[in-house]
Amino acid sequence: MKILVLNSGSSSVKYQLWDTPDKGVLAKGLVSRIGIDDPLHQHKVNDREIEFAPDEPINHEKAIQLLLDALVSPKHGVIARIDEIDAVGHRVVHGGEKFSDSALITPEVIEAIKECIPLAPLHNPPNLMGIIACEKVLDVPQVAIFDTAFHQTMEPYAYIYALPYEFYDEYKIRRYGFHGTSHYYVAHQAAKMLGKRIEELKIITAHLGNGASITAVKNGKCIDTSMGLTPLEGLVMGTRCGDIDPAIVLFIMEQKNIDIKATNNLLNKKSGLLGISGATNDLRDVLKASANGVYRAKLALDVYCYRIRKYIGAYTAAMGGVDVLVFTAGIGENASPIRKKAVEGLEFAGLILDDDKNNRTVGIPGDISAKDASARILVIPTNEELVIATETERIVNENLN
Ligand code: AMP
Repeated sequence: MKILVLNSGSSSVKYQLWDTPDKGVLAKGLVSRIGIDDPLHQHKVNDREIEFAPDEPINHEKAIQLLLDALVSPKHGVIARIDEIDAVGHRVVHGGEKFSDSALITPEVIEAIKECIPLAPLHNPPNLMGIIACEKVLDVPQVAIFDTAFHQTMEPYAYIYALPYEFYDEYKIRRYGFHGTSHYYVAHQAAKMLGKRIEELKIITAHLGNGASITAVKNGKCIDTSMGLTPLEGLVMGTRCGDIDPAIVLFIMEQKNIDIKATNNLLNKKSGLLGISGATNDLRDVLKASANGVYRAKLALDVYCYRIRKYIGAYTAAMGGVDVLVFTAGIGENASPIRKKAVEGLEFAGLILDDDKNNRTVGIPGDISAKDASARILVIPTNEELVIATETERIVNENLN
């Protein structure tokens, strides 16, 4: 089945054309600077990348038209006609409590995604724009794959905040969790790598990218995850603070006399590695500065790794043990010093690194644990697009064939 995988953001649309189940990615690309000057379209087939610069501002519909044109272009295309595309799979950030699975897009599903906009005001509207734009130019089934769906198996004691319960009833304030497709994928890959059934494993998955979250997966189901109502809670991230005392927010607003918007910006865009180091949100640069003896860079790394270690400990307790710890995403897949520091002192839980294997495993899958350790530590490159493509195929087959 030929499946167009779309990740439609506020100013960009990322795409991959998949040929499932076996042939993989035929082409991929990014249309960026949507809605502003100087839009850019980068299209990649095999290792060849072509750039187009549309001469006037574009909207989401035009962006989708551009990527479809590239896919059928006699010069850079990979299919002869648009109607070779069998279905479209959309990444949708927030499915609230309504979606614990991927869903075939219908007018009712679109309404339900709209109802989740207050929970993800920056993400769900552009996700919807992508869906609506596709409906206009393609006459094929569309499927929504939700970042929150995998976490819907959490028990109320894991997702309810200790606020007046009415806030849950009235506003649906609770822990939802994000990066669900990534946690789902690497947890299942971990079971495959170990030759075990996921139902018999206690897995902790650490998705460490510019955004970061960590999840406890017991017997194949998410039982807890670090992101909350929004993707701000939990681990330290590139520019997000993760867990802080909520009273700090009130304190800063009062002391600095800043409004909600400025405070939101401070917590989401100026905190995390950037906030502590005062220099950069890019982990590679923080590592370099720390190696050069810059105190705040070293401190940023210490705080970053200590937070991960605390969560691993907490989730080990929550699951009554741990069999596998998985590192994934930009930092988890590549940054061996972070992996080493994050698991320091966790020998009591059976998590012991083999330094050589850890240093050699950069951007590739591998088992980096010491041979005799009772738990495994794995590096698994994530592949959210693969999950979106296979989920789309499954939902289309279940609903329409
Ligand atoms: P992502 O959001 O998954 O693309 O991850 C972005 C983060 O991964 C950034 O902080 C990068 O600095 C980090 N990263 C990417 N490659 C490497 C690498 N080779 N070593 C250390 N960090 C890396």
